[in-house]
Amino acid sequence: MPADSRYITATLTDLVRTKSINPAFADGDTSDERAIATRAGEMMRALGMETTEYEPEPGRVSVVGRLRGTGGGRSLMLYGHIDTVGITAMPEPFSATVRDGKLYGRGAYDMKGGVTACLATVKALRDAGASLRGDVLIACVADEEVASIGMAEVLRHVRADAAIVTEATELRVSLAHRGFSWIEVETLGLAAHGSRYDLGIDANMRMGRFLARLDKLEQELRARPRHALVGPPSLHAAVLRGGTGTSTYADHCRLEIERRTVPGETEAQVLSEIRAITDALAAEDPTFKANVRAMLTRGSFEVRRDAPIVNAILSAATTVLGKQPEIIGEPYWMDAALLSDVGIDTVVIGPVGAGAHALEEWVSLDSVVKLTDILTRAATEFCA
Ligand SMILES: [Zn+2]
Repeated sequence: MPADSRYITATLTDLVRTKSINPAFADGDTSDERAIATRAGEMMRALGMETTEYEPEPGRVSVVGRLRGTGGGRSLMLYGHIDTVGITAMPEPFSATVRDGKLYGRGAYDMKGGVTACLATVKALRDAGASLRGDVLIACVADEEVASIGMAEVLRHVRADAAIVTEATELRVSLAHRGFSWIEVETLGLAAHGSRYDLGIDANMRMGRFLARLDKLEQELRARPRHALVGPPSLHAAVLRGGTGTSTYADHCRLEIERRTVPGETEAQVLSEIRAITDALAAEDPTFKANVRAMLTRGSFEVRRDAPIVNAILSAATTVLGKQPEIIGEPYWMDAALLSDVGIDTVVIGPVGAGAHALEEWVSLDSVVKLTDILTRAATEFCA
């Protein structure tokens, strides 16, 4: 059941030309995921799928299609997000021009190429008259680029026995990614006239003490044993703000830390490492006062090597590519963590390309064809 490459080019062209900029990146323009979710839903129904839309906020539409199996088999969800980042200063965001086997446009690589492969997989199964016992689902979700309200809403209603996330991996198989916690640290001082050293407590100087220890922690993190697929944890002092005027002692100083986590690390653990620093500084100097709180945490993701979906993808990719695919982990966060958080075994494999979030973005059409062949084989084995 080979992939239909003409269907792939036509579908990807259609999706790239359908504007779906996440409102957070719309830059004064109006945009959301309604038009593309409608279009994807039409494409799914044309393939014999039943569709349901989810709209947790107006215009923020996700659509899930289901190709019903004959019953008694395992269900598989193919995943792609349908929002894109912005297009400011992009020369040809919606052209979908093809040159040298590369299709250009915003979202071609991140990740309408993956979405196209999901649709083309169901087309290949239908064309071949495959009769699977399990259901094959396609989840086209909104808002992955910002807060994942689309996938969060879908997972309130939909479950599957396994999932394949088709974010771009250059046809390598990703089995893990890092998570992150955003942590706020505030040091407290006492405002006073700049001449009154006897009254003022300098919150900025106290933040300096904290930052010196944080710098040590950062180096220590990277010396910890590396996770086999995603490397060591890390952190950076991302935003720093303190003081109101040159002639005033700063009464507070606020820092936002981004701490990147590896599989196995929890928010509580990460917070306690930061609090150990503020506690030690307070013990050394009673005028040192600080508050530490978590602003947002997104978990890491890792799937066990012996999960059936991992076997299905590895053997399908080996057949299609003619060699064992490279197994990797990703440094950045994706919706795979939300799937694994609710107990769905998930793997990530996506097409070849370049330019996610950049001025020129393209995806290799040949890689979308190969990805479709891999997904079709994996679905046939997993849902048999
Ligand atoms: Zn993406």
